[in-house]
Amino acid sequence: MHLGLILGDQLSRTLPTFRRLNRERDIIVMAEVWAEARYVAHHRQKLFNCFSAMRHFAEELETAGWQVRYLPLDGDTAFASLQAAVDAVKNEYSIDRIVLTEPGEQRLLSEMANWESHFNCPVELLEDTRFLMSLADFAHWAQGRKALRMEYFYRLMRQRTGLLMNEENQPEGGQWNYDADNRRAWRGEPSAPEPMLFEPDSIDQNVATMIEQLFPDGWGDVQPGLWPVARRQAQASLTHAVSHLSHFGDFQDAMASDEPWLFHSRLSSALNQGLLTPMEVCEAVADAYYRDRIPINAAEGFIRQIIGWREYVRGMYWYLRLFEPQNSLNHHNALPDYFWTADTRMQCVQQSVRQTRALGYAHHIQRLMVTGNFSLIAGLDPEAVSEWYLGVYVDAYQWVERPNTLGMALHADGGRMTSKPYAASGQYINRQSNYCKTCWYNVKETTGSRACPFNGLYWHFLMRHQDRFRSNGRMGLMYRNLDKKSSAEREALWQQGENIIARLPLL
Ligand SMILES: Cc1cc2nc3c(=O)[nH]c(=O)nc-3n(C[C@H](O)[C@H](O)[C@H](O)COP(=O)(O)OP(=O)(O)OC[C@H]3O[C@@H](n4cnc5c(N)ncnc54)[C@H](O)[C@@H]3O)c2cc1C
Ligand code: SF4
Repeated sequence: MHLGLILGDQLSRTLPTFRRLNRERDIIVMAEVWAEARYVAHHRQKLFNCFSAMRHFAEELETAGWQVRYLPLDGDTAFASLQAAVDAVKNEYSIDRIVLTEPGEQRLLSEMANWESHFNCPVELLEDTRFLMSLADFAHWAQGRKALRMEYFYRLMRQRTGLLMNEENQPEGGQWNYDADNRRAWRGEPSAPEPMLFEPDSIDQNVATMIEQLFPDGWGDVQPGLWPVARRQAQASLTHAVSHLSHFGDFQDAMASDEPWLFHSRLSSALNQGLLTPMEVCEAVADAYYRDRIPINAAEGFIRQIIGWREYVRGMYWYLRLFEPQNSLNHHNALPDYFWTADTRMQCVQQSVRQTRALGYAHHIQRLMVTGNFSLIAGLDPEAVSEWYLGVYVDAYQWVERPNTLGMALHADGGRMTSKPYAASGQYINRQSNYCKTCWYNVKETTGSRACPFNGLYWHFLMRHQDRFRSNGRMGLMYRNLDKKSSAEREALWQQGENIIARLPLL
């Protein structure tokens, strides 16, 4: 008899594990364990989503005739680790082989390194074919390249998948990338769609009660029904997202007070848990384009996120070993408390943290250009920032969170992922949002006690790291603007930055 272990982010019937198992003969183990619930301070909504989705998936497998041993965290025996859970089941049955699909994270893979000797039986780790490019192919693409830019990777993926490619194997619409058409600010029109919600069932209610009991002091609100936690719900969310995708492209980079979702799909958590496959999501979007339901900038912009960014960050996580500590800019400032409390006068940060606490979600530009940009220019410790991102979002798993945080947002990887740091002053946030209108700080001021902190920190960042970035062609304009300032102005900006950094916890 084989034992098939299914991890919490492997909730897919297409998982290779199922092809190696026999429904009549073998047993499937799924376990909620303390080590997974606690390796970082997870948002309680994330814990809810994980456990509820696991329980729904176990039920689906049982209905399909699989023998499943489900070990809940609130059961008679709650296990400390996956190894302990497998041990317990293995001792009950005569198991000759353990089969699983490789975990997405190095954290777990390294824990499994001694499993064969520990369990004294073969442990078969299968390649995770749910991704569109294998790690071997990614390494092949990356090897020997001077610059590992996402755009070239993305074009290759378009060709490999055939998504939005015409009969001459050229990109639909004539352009590879409509990024320049994705930067409109949103001023209230057209109205943003309501998110798709679900009626909680008894599994959801039990999991919500368990979270309240076992994690009473955990961070974040729990709302059963807010996110898809079963395959059929994920499919409904996909249909809903595609039917509202027309404006995704236009307003992809927009932000607005009390509008947490705008035109974003909210599919990341379902994708990362395995409830949807990347290809089915992209095919649904391409189909909507060919039926003239969504414009090319929406379809291309969306598909780029999945076959481009999502696959690229996963490849980079392993290829660049981004699971190891990164801090190329030598930043060590502590994470201010308002990353948890939202108690700050900076309206943009307050909005982003408040909605993160309430929903386990902030969209990409909030993550990148508000909290990420702030962490970068304020010189916050990258590992502390990364741990925050890993904890607070419902879609956070190391393979996707660490490249985005350490590579894209914080430039802590030494610029191997992005050609220049995403450092911006308050002007960017003002252009893309309405946050500044109600902020205590003044986005137009660069010095003085009410000047927008992003402004002082931005100039300080440029001066602090000029030895590294001045020769970077893509930052030429930034440094030319700095050089236009008199030495007295530069001195005042430097001092402003110093004052803000000294008062970081109090902003
Ligand atoms: C600092 C930082 C940390 C992040 N951490 C995570 C994380 O832990 N988990 C996560 O899934 N995404 C992460 N992202 C990427 C992105 O912000 C989220 O995928 C997105 O906000 C999820 O919301 P959505 O489903 O509404 O996305 P949409 O805007 O609707 O995008 C569609 C889909 O594209 C994919 N996608 C978009 N951008 C990225 C990206 N940069 N990397 C990988 N996939 C992408 C997601 O699967 C997403 O569902 C992070 C970004 C930054 C800047
Ligand atoms: S003024 Fe500065 S701190 Fe305030 S919302 Fe605008 S960018 Fe953020």
